[in-house]
Amino acid sequence: MKSNLLVFAIAALGLVSILFTGCAPVNQINIISRESWRAEKAKEYKTQTINSITVHHEGTFFDTTKQDPKDFILKIQKYGMGKQKNWADVPYHYFIDMDGLIYQGRSDSVMGESTTVEDVSGQLQIALLGNFEQQEPTTRQLNTLINFLIQLCDKYNLKASKIKIHKELSNTQCPGKNLYKYFENGFINGEVAKYLRKY
Ligand SMILES: [Zn+2]
Repeated sequence: MKSNLLVFAIAALGLVSILFTGCAPVNQINIISRESWRAEKAKEYKTQTINSITVHHEGTFFDTTKQDPKDFILKIQKYGMGKQKNWADVPYHYFIDMDGLIYQGRSDSVMGESTTVEDVSGQLQIALLGNFEQQEPTTRQLNTLINFLIQLCDKYNLKASKIKIHKELSNTQCPGKNLYKYFENGFINGEVAKYLRKY
C-alpha cells in the first residue's frame, strides 16, 4: 500500500513539473549529437571550468523553409575552422533551432570563442539560431532555452543570476531586441530561478 502511494506521489509530482514548465520535464531534454550534423573533429584548445552561461543569437536570419539546421551548423563550423577565424571548432557549446531542438557544439569542457568578448573562459555559450533584431524567437525555442538553462544551472551548480546575455559583456546587439526583451524584463532568469529556488 505504502509503495502504491509512493508511486502515485511520484506520478503526481511528474505531472506538476510538466504543468509548471509548460513542456517536457527538464530531465527529458535530448541533445542532438555532433555526429548527426556531421561535425569535423575539433582541434585541441584551452579547457575551462564552467562558472557562467552566456546566451547569444547566431545572428543570421533563419528561414526554416529554406535552411536545414544541421547543414547550417556544419557551415558555421567550416567557416570558424577555416582560414578566416582558425578556431578549434564551432564557437558555441550549444545551438537551439527554431523547433526548439538542441545541438551539441563544442565540448562543455573546452573554452568557447568570441570576436567581441576578450575573456570567455568559464562561459558556457548557447546560441539560438536566428537573428532576433529581424525575427522573433519561436515559443519552442524559448521553452527549450528555459528548460535547458535550468538543467545546466543544476548540473554546474550555478545560480540563475549567472545567466548572462552577450550584450551584457560587450558592445553588441546580440542576442537581438526580440530575445533581449525576455531578459530585460527578468522573465527568463526569473523562470529559471523559480525552479532552482537559489537565485
Ligand atoms: Zn553573441
